[in-house]
Amino acid sequence: MLCTSHRPISALAIAVCMFVTPAAAASFETCVKGIRADVLKAGIRADIVNAAFRNIAFDEKAVRFSRTQPEYRLEIWDYMAFLVDDVRIADGKKMMQIHQKTLREVEKAYGINRYILAALWGVESDYGQEEGIFFLPHALPNVACGGKKPALFTAELIQAMRIVQAGDVKLGDLNGSWAGAFGQTQFMPSTYRRLAVDFDRDGHRDTIRSVPDALASAANFLKKAGWQSGLPWGFEVNVPRSYSGPAGRSRKSAIATWAKHGISRADGTALPSGGSYALIRPAGTLGPAFLVSRNFDVLYSYNAAEAYALAIGHLSDRLDGKGAFKTAWPTDDPGLNRAQRKRLQELLIAQGYYEGEADGRIGPLTITAIKAAQKKAGLKPTGRPGSRILKVLAGK
Ligand code: CA
Repeated sequence: MLCTSHRPISALAIAVCMFVTPAAAASFETCVKGIRADVLKAGIRADIVNAAFRNIAFDEKAVRFSRTQPEYRLEIWDYMAFLVDDVRIADGKKMMQIHQKTLREVEKAYGINRYILAALWGVESDYGQEEGIFFLPHALPNVACGGKKPALFTAELIQAMRIVQAGDVKLGDLNGSWAGAFGQTQFMPSTYRRLAVDFDRDGHRDTIRSVPDALASAANFLKKAGWQSGLPWGFEVNVPRSYSGPAGRSRKSAIATWAKHGISRADGTALPSGGSYALIRPAGTLGPAFLVSRNFDVLYSYNAAEAYALAIGHLSDRLDGKGAFKTAWPTDDPGLNRAQRKRLQELLIAQGYYEGEADGRIGPLTITAIKAAQKKAGLKPTGRPGSRILKVLAGK
């Protein structure tokens, strides 16, 4: 059984390690050798390449993650429930206090609202508390050799090696996602090369260990993507029942046009006096609706999902002391926050649905376990971590 990583192997990892046939192991070795040659050819020093590839082994988890498609439909209320939960709001307020000087300076230098920056930081790395579990110099060759866009992931590996060669980050610090996003703002190595900045002026662009560098790098990204200082990302609105006009992020109109349609702000305050906005209804006509600006598109460019942009926008408002959405999500099975997800896993483990650790991350193992528990409870086996299955398992 071949299953190693740069970190101690957990019980969870052992449980899912796959057996590797000699042929597969040989082809993995050949593939890695080829990538190593590409990295050397790209001009990375041999001592760095040697250190980077030392003890590289087949990483079942990285390959599996790169191949896994989401097994259940991630509803917008699931997404929002764990990205904008009370703990992340409280932690964000605390971190904004601690780093207020940096946030003020970055806001001044790049024109990006400090609440937006803090929200992005909170969603990307839980304010720097979370680093990825994969060692990039090992994960990227694994993903490339596992068949996922080999040219792209080899190119990202080379960019990662250039970052080390430039002396910006230490090789041993290069932990991130299986796909290569790393640091407190989860830049891909190529994005880092284009946009990371040395804001604390110590001579290194270090988005892993330096909060000023990380926040300024994210601000630089948003600025280059066209962020307009002073423009709100958007706001929740009430839409008349009879409304049948345009909707969708690309269909922007002057605020006066929306007012003519009878659309008003959900919090009762006046609409902005000007600007161009689009109407989005992420959960259809029964859920909350929003007017969103160009700046919403800028957040979308950081991670191409409207739910992501909405999570950043909403978390920024919550950090600024504003309230939750006025309109409820149209579901009778609400999403779970991070503490509830962990609780769900603890119950699944305690009741024998799977073996592993309750880490709050809903991976393939948890999904399979949820399906089994749902089936046993006579519910539709969707694998979705929701309130209903949590209540069943908790005996409520
Ligand atoms: Ca620096």
